[in-house]
Order: sequence, then C-alpha cells, then structure tokens
Amino acid sequence: MSVRESDLKQAPACTTNLGNYLWSDPPDESKWADCVHCGMCLESCPTYEQTGQEQHSPRGRVHLIKSVAEGKLEVNEAFADPVFACLDCRACTTACPADVDVGGLIEEARGQIRQAMPLTGWKGMVSKFFLEGVFPHPERLHLLGSLLKFYQKSGLQKVARKTRLIHIMPEHLAEMEAILPEVKQPVRKKYKHAGVIKAKGETKRTVALLTGCVMDVMFSDINEATINVLTRNGNDVVIPQKQTCCGALHVHAGDRETGRKLAKQNIEAFKDAEKVIVNAAGCGCMLKEYPELFREDPEWREKAEQFAAKVEDISKYLHDTGYEKPKAEIKTRITYHDACHLAHGQGIRQEPRDILLNIPGVEMVHMPNADRCCGSAGIYNITNPEMAGAVLKSKMEYVPEDVEIISMGNPGCMLQMAMGVLKYGRNQKVVHTVQLLDWAYQKEDRLKGVE
Ligand code: SF4
Ligand code: SF4
Repeated sequence: MSVRESDLKQAPACTTNLGNYLWSDPPDESKWADCVHCGMCLESCPTYEQTGQEQHSPRGRVHLIKSVAEGKLEVNEAFADPVFACLDCRACTTACPADVDVGGLIEEARGQIRQAMPLTGWKGMVSKFFLEGVFPHPERLHLLGSLLKFYQKSGLQKVARKTRLIHIMPEHLAEMEAILPEVKQPVRKKYKHAGVIKAKGETKRTVALLTGCVMDVMFSDINEATINVLTRNGNDVVIPQKQTCCGALHVHAGDRETGRKLAKQNIEAFKDAEKVIVNAAGCGCMLKEYPELFREDPEWREKAEQFAAKVEDISKYLHDTGYEKPKAEIKTRITYHDACHLAHGQGIRQEPRDILLNIPGVEMVHMPNADRCCGSAGIYNITNPEMAGAVLKSKMEYVPEDVEIISMGNPGCMLQMAMGVLKYGRNQKVVHTVQLLDWAYQKEDRLKGVE
C-alpha cells in the first residue's frame, strides 16, 4: 500500500476524537486494555512469521494502535502499512491468554486511516468501483457473472490461455484466472419467484439463507448444495430478495460507513427470519459482528445484537439440530483446512470435521497447523499479493500429499487453496464441506433409485 503524506485529508471537527484518531468510531480502548505485551501471540501470526518484525506482529500492532490514541503517533503511512498488512485472521486472539481482540482493533483503525488517508489514483477508483459500485448491487454482480460465463463458454478463455494473452495481467491475477470456477446461475436468481423452497418430507423448521455476493456468482453450486442439505433435513428455506453483501470486504478495507449501510439492509431483509444460515465463514463472522459497527448507535446496536443471535454457520446448524447421516460410501482421503473466520472468528472447529467423518468411506488425514491462514483474507491476496503468496506457500507445506480432497467452509479460502494446488503441482480437489455431504446424499438417492 502506498499512500503519500500529501494525500492526507483535512480532519473534520469531531466531538468523539481519541488522541490522534479524529473521526467517530475510533478503536475501542477496552480492546487493548488487557494486553500485557507478553508476546504469546507472536508465533501464531503469519505476517510476523514472514517478516520477523515487531510492527508486523499482533503485539506490535496493538501497541501502534494504542500509541495513536495516546497522541504519541500520527495516522500516517508508517502507521497504515502494518495495519493494512494484517490478514485479520484472528489467530492471535485464539493464542492470546487475555483474548485481546486484535482483529476488531485493526478494523476500527482501518476505518480511521481510510478517512484520514483516502485511497487516490487508480487504487481509489478500483476500490470505489468494486466496494460501492458492484458488491452491494446483486443485479450488477449477476451481470458480471454473465460476462464471466460468456468468457468461459465462448472459447475466449481458451484463446486467452493458449495465446498467453492472460499474462498481460499482473502475475497474481493471471494465477487467479487459472483457477476460476465454472460460473453457473446464482441461486438467488434461480429461486427468485419460489417464495419458500419446501423441505423434502415433513417441515421441522424454517430458515433463511444468506446467499452472499461473490459466493452466489462464483460458487452457486455450494449454495445449491446448502439448499439441498437443508431441505433434506426438514428445513423450509427462504431466500430474502432484499438481502445484500454482508459488508466484510468493506469493513476490512476500512469503509465502515458502507459496512453499516449494508448491515442495516441485511438486518431489515432478515427481520422475519428465526435463523439465518451462512455457508461462508467470512460472511458469517461479519454478520455476527454487526453490533461492533453500531457501538455509537444504541438503537441499531440493539437490532444488530438481535440479528447476530440468529446467525449460524451451516455446519454448526446441522450439528445442533441433528441431521441425517448419509449411508452411501464416498471412498476418499480428505484433509480439512480451518478457515480463519470459522475457527478463530466463530470457534467452529469440530462440527465440520464431524460432518466429514460421518460420511461412510471418508478417511480423514490430519493437517498440521490446519488453522493457519492460507493468505486469502478477503481481497488481501489482491491488495497484498506478495505477502499473500508467501503465506500460501507456507500453508501448502502443511497440506498432506496423500489426500484427494481438501475440504473447508469458506469460498475465499477455496480460491486461494486451489491456487496453491495449481502453483505447487498438487492434484487435490478443493471442496466445501457441505458439498461433500450433498454428494453423499445424492449417491444414496441414486443407489435407491430416487429421483
Ligand atoms: S495481544 Fe495478548 S498474547 Fe499478544 S502480547 Fe498482548 S496480551 Fe500477550
Ligand atoms: S489478525 Fe492474523 S495477521 Fe493480524 S496480527 Fe493477528 S495473527 Fe497477525
């Protein structure tokens, strides 16, 4: 990230400033209050592992964030660099004996930095285009999906790859192009007029599904698998059409204002739902953390708390409500990668592993450091490709060679791990946990001759 000092925006008059944080919603003092600088978080941090520098460690970042609040440090480039180099992977909070919420502090600090030092030039334009112009607008995302589908189906992709035209893009984007999944129809569009997607058999519960923004364009087959698994287990499924992007990408980028707008839209869209089911760890974590965005707005904070209490990851929901164990065999060797925002962000580790273990024929192979970040971290692999690449390389060293499938519960990790598989000459398939369960159910139905 390069932001010039001359880009510094004039600070507005603000009544809630804290030291050199001049805007409302500054980092929360209570979050760093318990840090005793013990350093027990250091080894857990991927950026510290790569750089060995204190400023790129959780302890260093907490110290910097606190120093700005104490007026000892300015909000400038030297502060912004380590704050934006954080993956927001939350491994440090798991390692910290005092539960210091480093990720929360990072997000709040980024909110201040982006107001003091807005992105300019092409970075500002690209960021504005995607964060404000695309992600919050499903119809524009669907249009982008259709263009991508045309690129894949028309032969253009083949030509671009054969003529190596693809390599006019920066290397990390060309690598991403190489692992693009096949784009299919978004489920939100498919079930637009369906109202309720009825449970197969007796209805036990009704749930609402967050389809996600990128998720529904790039991985609509995972959303489809989620619907199949839910309906098979007695759930009526509704897809509220007014839902929008969860806002995680905006909050990670420091655009907390748009994050709040999207949060309000989702809270309204899901107000009649008893349960909100999510199959993307990053989105689930964001929805559960909506109250953090409304620390200065008691009315919306209360609504956000009520909403957050209804949000559940699909693996935890299936585990808690009891689901039909598949009977058909899928003979395969699988290893499981803990998405940061599932394991560190939501404390969900065993439930997805149990889903896999309950599929007959599946042999689980332990991945050391399974909860180590893969370097995806939202769009970190686009904004910080070098560090993301180094983190991915280190992650791939832990992936057992003798497995056929790497399973996980987050689309961003799926793209990043697929890139790792391709780049390091592996041959594993990267599959969402719920897809495997759906495949087992489908096989069982085929064997029984059920349509
Ligand atoms: S964040 Fe936690 S683990 Fe890290 S130095 Fe502070 S108290 Fe220790
Ligand atoms: S969130 Fe991850 S990258 Fe950031 S300081 Fe913590 S461990 Fe390091």
